[in-house]
Amino acid sequence: MELCRAFLILGWVSLFAGVLSASGCRASDDLETPSRRSAPEGPLPGSAGASHSPGVAQPGARRWEPAQEGTSWASRLGKKREALALEGGGDERSEAAVLAGLRWLARHQGADGGWHAKAFPGRCNGAKCGNWGDPDLDVGVTGLVMLAFLGAGFTHASSVEFPDPEIPGRVFRFGEVLKKGQQWLLSQQDREGGFGARSEKYMYNHALATQALAEAFGMSRAEVLKTPAERAVIFLVTAQNPGKGWRYAARSGDNDSSVTGWCVLALRSAGLAGLSVPQSTFDGANAWFDSVTTDDHDVGYTSKEATGHVIIPWNSERWADHDTLCALAFVTKFFTGQALPDARRKGFIERLVHDLPAGKDKTDYVYWNLGSLALFANQGSKSSEWQKWNEAMKMVILPLQASSRDGCKAGSWDGSERWGSGGGARIYATAINVLTLETYYR
Ligand SMILES: [Zn+2]
Repeated sequence: MELCRAFLILGWVSLFAGVLSASGCRASDDLETPSRRSAPEGPLPGSAGASHSPGVAQPGARRWEPAQEGTSWASRLGKKREALALEGGGDERSEAAVLAGLRWLARHQGADGGWHAKAFPGRCNGAKCGNWGDPDLDVGVTGLVMLAFLGAGFTHASSVEFPDPEIPGRVFRFGEVLKKGQQWLLSQQDREGGFGARSEKYMYNHALATQALAEAFGMSRAEVLKTPAERAVIFLVTAQNPGKGWRYAARSGDNDSSVTGWCVLALRSAGLAGLSVPQSTFDGANAWFDSVTTDDHDVGYTSKEATGHVIIPWNSERWADHDTLCALAFVTKFFTGQALPDARRKGFIERLVHDLPAGKDKTDYVYWNLGSLALFANQGSKSSEWQKWNEAMKMVILPLQASSRDGCKAGSWDGSERWGSGGGARIYATAINVLTLETYYR
């Protein structure tokens, strides 16, 4: 058993070790000047004499930038991350899938630094990947992609390198990828602090961009990110319908549980990053979820009556419905520190456990993502509920990832599922599935 564990841990180190930057130099532009500079890379104190061979695991060697130690996200780093992945039910395959997904996302980053739901096939190597989506969602999918890189412990200061398996000689520096992504995102912020155009459903875009920027600031402590992140948070807080939730546009008077939940996730990350979020904002979100939750623990979309199957023509009518909003209600309560009565907590959890991740017409990436977040938060990795969910999640999510036999698609997920086929499509699908596989330490 111990040998097996050791093998798995070494396997992960090897998977994520990458190749240390030959120069070790950092560019000197403003995004490279976090207030707490990274310590020099290389062996940990006490592992004197350990010399690195590119891509070969060295026990005791630290291959991650330690700039984020002491922040709320230290669980994503190095050995903590490896131990938590193992403890939580991850394994060599899930970690390999995370890395393959990040490589695909790096390969399809736009030349301008953003990720583009429609235009990304222009970055393909050889045959186009296909399955493109809606350019109105570029800000949101860019935020989601950045969260996937941050979730694996990378920041813009990271200098580890990973070869691109599709293009011989090409090397990705995830730190550079994140830096360009951040710069693009910052270019999308307007004078009011909002991200992107005021398109039809812009609050999703803004919430995801805010969460990405908050975590990027929180993990790197880069001063240059602080003010944009603060402005983004103020925009989001101000956009809430007083005492209630959010919908697609600021203070529209309409509320829905989906947008509200994503806004809470963004503000929770902001709080963890040390950015100020009024308690009344979280109180409003909790009051919204209370107002739409039925006696049998179902959560409505726009009202208590609006439960059951949601139809979005040409997109979701072919797919089974899931209790995604129960997961969002649960994580809202949990992350904002509002105690749930035991019967309510059990009611939410039972709904999720009775609808474990499954493929075909039940494929629903956001349900798998938020269900994972809720069940892992509930009682940690030791609960039988999590273990059941986790095994089902891995069993369904891993085989759906494109493999090296699929050319440029390798590492990505097709967006043919309940929500992604007509929205963020392949970029969304890949980012959110990577995030799901990071649940153990994210
Ligand atoms: Zn491609």
